[in-house]
Amino acid sequence: MTVAAILSGKGHETITADRDAPLGEICKTLAKHKIGAVVVCGADRAIEGIVSERDIVRAIGTDGSVALNLPVSNVMTKEVVTCVEENSVNEVMARMTQGRFRHMPVVKDGKLTGVISIGDVVKFKIAQVELEAEQMRSYITMA
Ligand code: AMP
Repeated sequence: MTVAAILSGKGHETITADRDAPLGEICKTLAKHKIGAVVVCGADRAIEGIVSERDIVRAIGTDGSVALNLPVSNVMTKEVVTCVEENSVNEVMARMTQGRFRHMPVVKDGKLTGVISIGDVVKFKIAQVELEAEQMRSYITMA
């Protein structure tokens, strides 16, 4: 199964921010949308970075509450690992585990088209296991 299967269930909506947005504003966005990371995009939805709650905790731990006034570009991760819709779910899961991050932007022609979180991957995997168990039960009771 591929990333496309997850996106067809959850949709392509992505929450993005401008590189100049202050961290305080990013906190409000994370809280409002109940998400753990925001992709920072420039013109044409080209990815410039990603900022997660961990980056914000680190910045506040280092600088205190003044960090909330810093532009997100000071704090975001700039080397963003991305995937495409054709990647398998197992591949994306392995890359998240290896890189120790929980979010993976999906791109097409260099533009952001979705975001997959480790929560989406786990939800998908559980549904797959439940379906297989159900198919096995039906097969056994038919026999
Ligand atoms: P997370 O587990 O997603 O909260 O992120 C943990 C750390 O990895 C933070 O410093 C994020 O900025 C960074 N990060 C999150 N997603 C990615 C990604 N797809 N590529 C590179 N770094 C990431």
